[in-house]
Amino acid sequence: MRTILLILMLGIFSFNAAQSYKPIDTADYLERKNFLANYTKDTEVFNKRQKEKYEGKTGRELSNSLSRFQKYFQEEVKSKNFVFNTAFNKYVNTVVDQILKSNSLNFPNLKILVEKDNTPNAYCMGDGTLVVNMGLFYWVDNQDQFASVICHELGHLFLDHTIKTQLADMKFEKNGKEEFKSLVSEQNNKGEKAYQIYKRQLYKFSAEKRKQENEADSLGYVYYLKSNFAKSEFKNALVMLKKFDSISPKVLKTETYKQFFDLPEHPFKEKWLQKEDFSTYDYSHYKEKIDKDSVASHPELDLRIKYLDTQFPDQNITTKKVESSAEFQVLEKTARLEFLPNFYQSEDFGVGIYSALQLLQNETQETDYYKYWLGKNFEKIFEARKNYKLNRYLDRVDPKNQDESYQQFLNFMWNLSLDDIKFIAEFYNKKSL
Ligand SMILES: [Zn+2]
Repeated sequence: MRTILLILMLGIFSFNAAQSYKPIDTADYLERKNFLANYTKDTEVFNKRQKEKYEGKTGRELSNSLSRFQKYFQEEVKSKNFVFNTAFNKYVNTVVDQILKSNSLNFPNLKILVEKDNTPNAYCMGDGTLVVNMGLFYWVDNQDQFASVICHELGHLFLDHTIKTQLADMKFEKNGKEEFKSLVSEQNNKGEKAYQIYKRQLYKFSAEKRKQENEADSLGYVYYLKSNFAKSEFKNALVMLKKFDSISPKVLKTETYKQFFDLPEHPFKEKWLQKEDFSTYDYSHYKEKIDKDSVASHPELDLRIKYLDTQFPDQNITTKKVESSAEFQVLEKTARLEFLPNFYQSEDFGVGIYSALQLLQNETQETDYYKYWLGKNFEKIFEARKNYKLNRYLDRVDPKNQDESYQQFLNFMWNLSLDDIKFIAEFYNKKSL
């Protein structure tokens, strides 16, 4: 009897092991150490060269501001927000190599990193570091669209845009400095906050930025065509990215809440879905705001598409639809499976639960894996709620800036009692054992 039970258990165990995905291990101490050593060495040389290139106060300030950002960036690397030696890294390196070779380009300072960030984005820093977010692998349609984003970033790099922006910032604005100054009194997560400010500045949309985007697209498109990618996909990537953000725009259905939170001995309560009353809001204003900002939540993308249309009319020639290659499909799937570990790593526990529920609603495979993360996030939400720190991990309802599905989710979360949260956390944590 005991043997049969053991065999049965082993059987169940191996079945689970085969089915369940194992997240990327970020304990890659050696690779990180090597990267940081090289990075420190190379950026020192780079900063010194900038100091010489721009004489006097400008050179000094530029070099100082560069090394300040680099210090924060190093902290980010240390806190395991980047992955090394994964299939993602290998793939990006191959794509970059292909583009550089096809265009006889050489960027001596180029370093490529993959960030555990679900936003479909890539960015380059003044010192020649190119960062590709893991989310980009998921949100684009195929390998050519992926390559187009890389070409665009290499365009920025070639045109030295980040340094130019930084110089302009130093000259015309003191905003950045003020923002950084306000960090002095900050007690928690100083490095993380500074890094966020830096990223915000990098993304900042202005007339100059718009010009740079168009320049990077023009040059990027040349790189792209020379590397033999499909003409149509350069613009298609922008159209695709326009639709998405880090949070999936797919609607979370009411039935999904009932399916996953109607638990034995803790039945679902309709009142959990009650919404706050926003009738006092000026709805017409709200609607206008949505049309203007939210739906086209990336106005710069619209302008870039328009610009490409006028500059390169022949890109619209309908070519055969580019299918995602087998290799790219694997990366796409891995990026999807890394969503929840990534949100967890950045302590976005509320968004992590929302994302887990969407995946459970829309995917038929790996459901145990998603439930496991649902439990882990609920555990964190329970701790936060118990310690009156829920605000830190769960957004407040904000009808002006959130779609209806996400608002419904937030209402649900804020309606749960401490006991409800405890019960759900325990249920899903036990389930995963
Ligand atoms: Zn850009």
